[in-house]
Amino acid sequence: MAVPKYDIIVVGAGPGGCACAALLQKWGMKTLLLEKNDRVGGKALNMHKDGFTYELWPVLATPMLDTKFHEVANELGVEIKMSEIVPALKGGGFLYRPPKSKKYESFNLVPPFMIPEMLTKEETEEVNRLFSDMAALTPTEMDALDDVNFHDFLCRYNVPRSVYTFLAVFINILFLAPIDLASASEMAKTMNDFTTKLGSAYFIGGQAQLFETFMKAFKRDGGELRLRTRVERIIVEDGQVQGVYTDKGAFKAPIVVSNAGIQPTVLKLVGEEHFDKGYANHIRGLIPSMGLMGSRYFLDKVVFEDNTYVIYSDDCVWDMEDYMKAKAGEIPKDMIIIVFNPQGFDPNLAPEGKQVLLTATVCVADPKMKNTKQWADALDEHVTRFNPEIRKHIIRREDYTTADVSRVTRDSVVPGQGGECIGLGQIVGQCGQYKPSPSAPIQGLFYVGVDSGGYGVGIHHATESAVNVAPIVLRYHQTH
Ligand SMILES: Cc1cc2nc3c(=O)[nH]c(=O)nc-3n(C[C@H](O)[C@H](O)[C@H](O)COP(=O)(O)OP(=O)(O)OC[C@H]3O[C@@H](n4cnc5c(N)ncnc54)[C@H](O)[C@@H]3O)c2cc1C
Repeated sequence: MAVPKYDIIVVGAGPGGCACAALLQKWGMKTLLLEKNDRVGGKALNMHKDGFTYELWPVLATPMLDTKFHEVANELGVEIKMSEIVPALKGGGFLYRPPKSKKYESFNLVPPFMIPEMLTKEETEEVNRLFSDMAALTPTEMDALDDVNFHDFLCRYNVPRSVYTFLAVFINILFLAPIDLASASEMAKTMNDFTTKLGSAYFIGGQAQLFETFMKAFKRDGGELRLRTRVERIIVEDGQVQGVYTDKGAFKAPIVVSNAGIQPTVLKLVGEEHFDKGYANHIRGLIPSMGLMGSRYFLDKVVFEDNTYVIYSDDCVWDMEDYMKAKAGEIPKDMIIIVFNPQGFDPNLAPEGKQVLLTATVCVADPKMKNTKQWADALDEHVTRFNPEIRKHIIRREDYTTADVSRVTRDSVVPGQGGECIGLGQIVGQCGQYKPSPSAPIQGLFYVGVDSGGYGVGIHHATESAVNVAPIVLRYHQTH
């Protein structure tokens, strides 16, 4: 039987893969999108069960105005529906427990990002100086911060401990990086977006509705999506991509764009024998973001009206020391707790009178992480102490771990890697000018997604990558 031929094969229908494939097809290239799961959305896919629609874990879209989501949708000529504007999360937000206090204070999610009455006039001025300095950085100054970690950057300012903690927790949950490993340039760019394009949003119908909408345009324009198709090998001959082998057969194309993660792509799907040793070693040495683990609570009553809470204290901040302790198996005494209520954004996502809550806490990325049951039970203790009503109304609790994250998304090809929440993009020395190029050193091979080509928060980062990578691929196609 003849092997089907395409202009381009995209491997993986995560946010980056979906947006990139849809743009390429729209611009006239015959594109095949291959996805191993039975649905699109990658780490942000949606489940539909027992009348509930939910993500596997908390996923918020940030920013929300004038975004790359809108840019792709406009280019494709499709409409996307976001939840109403949520500058400070409606009813929820960042809840900080000051030292020696049992009470939580609500931190503002808009500048100057603080509890005004907790800060003196001088402290407020210093926080404002920090934010205005970040907003005024020139491109050259921004580049110079690519390999400065945010802890060191923050030490240039005399901000109070509560603000340090807030920003550190912000980095811990947005970039899933220890504060002394996250890049100051990524934080400055993301904070600037956060303040000018507003906080977080949700796509009506579930987060993956966005990517399903992109897929409608893809198919409308003649693109071919094959689900439940795992790419086992990207075929390279004489330094030139030829196509892919999958568990359903071979497909030919002179261009492959991989959304499967740069480490799995280089070290497994292509094979490092096809790369220069230095390049392969560089890719192997890249550091993944940390992971999230947690639970899904299916409840027989609506016990939580607000849409999102991030609950934390000074003891919750993750720096490299905490990361190393967690790597050695230690469970933190005080955990950052995320409680996410999809119905707080879209009330139609659960049967009348019922609720699903998604919780999360920071952990290592290792899919072989030990003591996962103890971690889940410790998180459950924290969550149900925060809202004891939850325990009384549980129909079912489903735990998820970094092994599940890896299974749903990227393969583990380096020890400790695979369950990363975001990817590789926000760590000092790996982002901005140091980020791996979307063009691999093999003719016809490109990367799209959080590992290459974008910046910012998770799904927006991946979509921004698609907006940047698709024109590079188009140019390659036209010139070859
Ligand atoms: C617990 C958790 C919470 C998160 N919370 C947020 C949040 O609040 N906000 C936010 O913006 N982001 C969040 N993220 C991160 C965000 O979901 C990711 O950064 C984003 O999905 C990455 O997009 P991507 O396109 O790079 O790839 P991915 O989402 O990783 O998708 C890759 C796709 O490629 C497919 N694939 C891989 N290998 C193969 C293969 N060999 N053959 C075929 N298909 C393959 C996978 O099945 C998957 O569909 C969260 C992630 C996790 C795990």
